Amino acid sequence: METDKTEEKKPLSFIEQIVENDLKSGEVKEIVTRFPPEPNGYLHIGHLKAINISFSIAKKYNGICHLRMDDTNPEKEDGEYISSIEQDIKWLGFDWGDKVYFASDYYEQMYNIAVNLIKEGLAYVDDLSPEEIKKYRGTLTEKGKESPSRSRSISENLRLFEEMKNGLHPEGKYILRAKIDMSSPNINMRDPAIYRIRYAEHPRTEKKWCIYPMYDFAHPIEDAIEGITHSICTLEFEDHRPLYNWFCEHDDIECYPKQREFSRLNITYTVMSKRHLRELVEKGYVDGWDDPRMPTISAARRRGFTPASLIDFASRVGTTKVEGIVDYSLLEFCAREDLNKKALRYMAVLDPVKVVIDNYPKDKEETFTTANNPENESDGEREIPFSREIYIERSDFMEVPVKGYHRLYIGGEVRLKSAYYITATSVEKDDQGNITLIHATYDPLSKGGDTKDGRKVKGTIHWVDASKAADAKVRLYDKLFTEEVPGAKTGNYLDDLNKDSLKELNAKVEKDMLNIAPGVPLQFMRMGYFTRDSKSKEIVFNRTVTLKDTWAKTQKQ
Ligand code: ATP
Ligand code: MG
Repeated sequence: METDKTEEKKPLSFIEQIVENDLKSGEVKEIVTRFPPEPNGYLHIGHLKAINISFSIAKKYNGICHLRMDDTNPEKEDGEYISSIEQDIKWLGFDWGDKVYFASDYYEQMYNIAVNLIKEGLAYVDDLSPEEIKKYRGTLTEKGKESPSRSRSISENLRLFEEMKNGLHPEGKYILRAKIDMSSPNINMRDPAIYRIRYAEHPRTEKKWCIYPMYDFAHPIEDAIEGITHSICTLEFEDHRPLYNWFCEHDDIECYPKQREFSRLNITYTVMSKRHLRELVEKGYVDGWDDPRMPTISAARRRGFTPASLIDFASRVGTTKVEGIVDYSLLEFCAREDLNKKALRYMAVLDPVKVVIDNYPKDKEETFTTANNPENESDGEREIPFSREIYIERSDFMEVPVKGYHRLYIGGEVRLKSAYYITATSVEKDDQGNITLIHATYDPLSKGGDTKDGRKVKGTIHWVDASKAADAKVRLYDKLFTEEVPGAKTGNYLDDLNKDSLKELNAKVEKDMLNIAPGVPLQFMRMGYFTRDSKSKEIVFNRTVTLKDTWAKTQKQ
């Protein structure tokens, strides 16, 4: 297969190299990776990068990628997020088999590991206040100071930790810390917190626990329990790797996953942190996590992006340690590449004005046949109705043409796509001077869009039959933010919200389009790629992307 060949030719990413070496040396027999989202929001395009890396590597080397809900924060998590995460990853085409796990299922095991650490003199209960702990921790240039609790006896630590677990102490009174090295040059190794007290109810374990493990402790244990061979995460965890390894060595599980880090994905004109995305939803700046302007995977689906275009994007972005910001137009480029092959072509008039063809018989109707997709014959053909009254785009007509205008104007001739040549003769206007009707004549000999006399017309425009067309709403989207890095100037990303990011139009569309399901890619001739909205009760089409990168052009002017 062609795609496999190009796969083979692509140079290996640094993580693939590590994986291949581990397989060759026999250090690892079967690759097991994981994608560990915290179910406190919907997945975004940044997650897409992480998903693509971990699932693709597992697939490429005949391994498996686990889906693990990293639900160690009791307060912020929600069942809606869990189902959206599963749905999005499946939609992208990745498969975790039956390997879906919840970090909260390991609480008992984690607790026992913590007790063992205490017994080995490797963990202690600290009663310093959070402020004191911070002060004792030191800085990048200054060593930390040992807490007086560090010398607490093992039996006292065991007793206090059990009391913490049994709910005998208020939040913040005690924490359990690993006893590592307060003078380590790596701050993460300066006796990090392992467990804290929290009385919030957990969505899955409910009120069973009032102590919760910290990420740095929980994550390596989750990986070890599941037999993960390569724990691939983002660069901010690179400095935590010695700590990750320390817990793997001291957790009495015979599994030593390798943590390897790659750079986070950032995209221009958008924000990617779940905290910001949640704020946009909660404050009503957008219509939910899947509002087509959001950088979430479910928004991309609703807007008409295909899984193939998103995976293509993630692959082009690649796997490196280089921090950077990817241009939003790359995402659009990938969408066009895929949609051009797949989209069914239809005619839709987004801003309609009526044309009456005065020399066309009043009661006559005919149909023209057109290919559903010139790029793919197997998509078949369909019949388009035609009669005396049609709609065209308001912008495809000028009463008095400017120089170089090749569309319809009074005295000018234009080709109606797949139908006839028409010439505009006069207009009717309302009291405000808006054109309400265009009168035209047609050339009966130009049927099918060509004349026998070799006469040339420069412009071809799309149209729909007025009596047979259906009404539909069309939503055109622009970037959600006006600045490449929202908030870079003012410190508040909300200052850069684009107030004109959504435009809704009342369009006239071919009736056949009403039978097309949401998610099926469409090209509205000359107007862009669209798909039917999956949420609206009315007929709504979302524009996925324009046909060309008009935005890049205007930027260059
Ligand atoms: P956020 O800051 O958006 O809340 P997070 O890292 O807290 O992100 P998680 O649900 O914990 O979100 O992320 C799951 C996985 O996705 C992690 O391994 C994380 O490294 C990865 N990930 C998150 N954001 C990005 C991004 N922008 N680019 C690449 N990977 C990402
Ligand atoms: Mg997180």
